[in-house]
Amino acid sequence: MKLIVMKFGGTSVGDLKKISNVANIVKKNLKGSKLIVVLSAMAGETNKMQNYLDTIKSDEKIENDLVLTAGENVTIGILSAMLRKRKINSLPLLGWQIPILTDNNHENAKILNIDKKRINKFLKKYDVLVIAGFQGISLDGHITSLGRGGSDTTAVAIASAINADRCDIYTDVDGVYTTDPRQYKKAKKIKKIFYDEMLEMASLGSKVMQPTSVQDAKLNKIDIKVKSSFVSKSGTLITGSKKTFSNQIITGISSTKNDAKITIVGVKDRPGVAASIFRPLSKNLINVDMVVQNISQNGKETDLTFTIKSEDL
Ligand code: ADP
Ligand code: ASP
Ligand code: MG
Repeated sequence: MKLIVMKFGGTSVGDLKKISNVANIVKKNLKGSKLIVVLSAMAGETNKMQNYLDTIKSDEKIENDLVLTAGENVTIGILSAMLRKRKINSLPLLGWQIPILTDNNHENAKILNIDKKRINKFLKKYDVLVIAGFQGISLDGHITSLGRGGSDTTAVAIASAINADRCDIYTDVDGVYTTDPRQYKKAKKIKKIFYDEMLEMASLGSKVMQPTSVQDAKLNKIDIKVKSSFVSKSGTLITGSKKTFSNQIITGISSTKNDAKITIVGVKDRPGVAASIFRPLSKNLINVDMVVQNISQNGKETDLTFTIKSEDL
């Protein structure tokens, strides 16, 4: 009996017809296997929730995560009901029911533990578990979310916890391309990509995989297949190798639209200054990406430029 984790993203569960398509894919994969299906919210739902929170300017972390993770409750319930209609023995599960235990860092929580024994117990009774992606429960017992795009991380973490035979990420493109195929039509599909290359691309803006999920896959040696929910084509294998990078000089090109650039002018050029700027950012869990330091014209001071995510601005 094979254990397969399948994750479907927002566009793949974007409406009832698409969820029905997912139910068909699940049914096809069921022969000789037990399946764990991880779902995102319908495309646009999490943004809608975020807009509500932005409108009321909510800084309430516990409430924010409760609202942000609501979309996944809907999709798992609908898919599981559709599977039952197809006479498939399925059970929907929210993150806390497993539980997927996380730290208390709301809106960007890190998975600390997944109860493998409980998953195996559920798998004894059911052929398909439909699990809400993106959701966890904190050490303090509150609902947390794993950062935007976090269902990828749920899928990889579960695959690792239960030692799955396969982890398939179904999305709205048929693999990882040399650059975003929606931005550049001539982008080429990559058949096989190593973890470190994928991590570079993901953390620099290639949205197709959440960076944390690639990091977890690398740490736990989980092979990932990225493929399309809509067309049956061979996808991209994300895997490891003795070499960190393949022989190509350039594997891919990524871009982001939500970075903010900050320049601090006239910074005194003495030891400890950079730390005094970056330490408070680190304490507030704000990730600094690029850093450039210039000598100013008078040679006594420096200009310090760095980038952060726009939402952290
Ligand atoms: P899902 O909802 O399935 O998680 P995402 O929207 O998070 O899907 O990620 C898929 C999208 O990632 C694609 O629609 C594509 O526009 C974008 N993308 C960015 N860079 C790449 C790349 N190098 N290869 C494939 N897709 C990419
Ligand atoms: N629904 C969440 C988001 O939109 C998680 C995910 O799709 O992976 O970020
Ligand atoms: Mg995604």
